[in-house]
Parts: sequence; C-alpha cells; structure tokens
Amino acid sequence: MTGSRACAGPGRAAELAANLAALETRVRAACSAAGRAREEITVVAVTKTFPVADVVGLAALGVTDVAENRAAEAEAKAGAARELGVGHLRWHFVGQVQTNKAAVVAAFADVVHSVDRVRLVDALDRGADRAGRRLVCLVQVDLSGADGRGGAAPSEVEAVAAAVDGARHLSLGGVMAVAPHDGSVDPASAGRAFARLAEVADRVRGAHPGATIVSAGMSGDLEQAVAAGATHLRVGSALLGSRPALR
Ligand SMILES: *Cc1c(COP(=O)(O)O)cnc(C)c1O
Repeated sequence: MTGSRACAGPGRAAELAANLAALETRVRAACSAAGRAREEITVVAVTKTFPVADVVGLAALGVTDVAENRAAEAEAKAGAARELGVGHLRWHFVGQVQTNKAAVVAAFADVVHSVDRVRLVDALDRGADRAGRRLVCLVQVDLSGADGRGGAAPSEVEAVAAAVDGARHLSLGGVMAVAPHDGSVDPASAGRAFARLAEVADRVRGAHPGATIVSAGMSGDLEQAVAAGATHLRVGSALLGSRPALR
C-alpha cells in the first residue's frame, strides 16, 4: 500500500504539479467570491490509497498538510515518509477511529478530525500521553443523521468538545463535517449542510474561543465550504486523481 518507489516518476510529478496549480486557482476563486483571504484557508491533501511516493511528491511541491483515513495505512505511510526525509509534514487523520486503534492514531497524527464520542476522547488522551505527544482534536459533526460516516449529533457536540478541552494531552481545535451527498454533489444541499456546521462551530467557539478550525469541503464541494467559513479543506481526488471505489 505504501509502495516501494521513493519518488514519483516525472510524469506523476508533472500531474501532481498541474493538479495542485488547478486546485490553487479554484481555492483563490472561491476565496475572492466569498470576500475571504487565501491565508484563511489550509488545504489538506488526502493521500489515502496513494503511495508514499505521492506524499513525497506533494511535499516537494510545497504541500505541508496530508491526511489519511485508515490507521494502519496512515501509520506505515507517515513512517515511510519520515524515513525518506520528509519529516516536517503535519499528519491529519480523517477516518473513523476505533477505540482500540486510538493509540496507533495518537502516535503519528498531529490533528484528528474525527473525534465523535467521549470514550474516544479518553482513549486518544491515553494514547497521546503514552506517546509523549499532544494532539489537536476536531469534533466531527454528523450533518445527515443517517449516512454512517461517523460524527456526533449536533446536540452531543458540546459534550465531546468539553471532554477534549478537559483532556490533558489534547487541544480542542474546532469542528469537522462531511456534507451528506449520495452519489453526485448537489451544491445547494452542500451549502445548507455547511451553513449548519457554521452554526455548530459558532456555538463551540462561544464556549471555547480557541476552537477556530472548521474542517469542511472536499474536491466536489470546496467552493460551498469556503463560502460558509471553512478554514480547512480536505482534498483528495482533485489533487491525486480518482481512487478505487469503496473508499
Ligand atoms: C476521502 C476523504 C476526503 C477527500 O475526498 P475527495 O472527494 O477525494 O476530495 C475528505 N474527507 C474525508 C473524511 C475523506 O474520507
């Protein structure tokens, strides 16, 4: 899964550069349409299913933030990237975290976007303690009520946020959500979902002023996310190309 080649070939490097340039154009256009500064937005490259060579290739193009969604794959890739001399990346974890994998995630992740229950908060805090690390945690908000991608119901968010805030080795960064799409992206429904997330984010910030991160928006709906106040975009396919299905 992490691949054996240390470097992307020249064709792949050119493809990643072109994708990154096109993405940058989209993000700048979305910022200017929303009256926001480009500096307010962090692009996180979602490298799941792609080899570590692509992580190295993106880092060479100036990408600083990468994300994964499976603990074992992420741990291996972060380790391989470090061995290849790419030790300065910020690693984000965006997948559902099983409680018994929390220690694995705590050992490599810098930012965990998918914290959705108090039991997981406790497990991540113990894992961070054992690893001698401090993790930034985002509370994942379920905007669908139904799609099984994880997330706390909006009414449960404050309890999870308070647990993170009270944990010794965790910092509350803010909130995250995935807009509910079945199949194709509907811009209007993405906009409504991100508006609901913005309300939740405001409430969390009211109680925890440092919780300024709003992680929202993917390849298909990043314009709506920027319009609704996202600070972090999680972009996979627009940067790396399409993944095999079922991810
Ligand atoms: C895979 C994934 C992304 C990236 O999705 P793209 O549509 O490929 O940009 C973003 N967020 C989460 C939680 C993901 O699992």
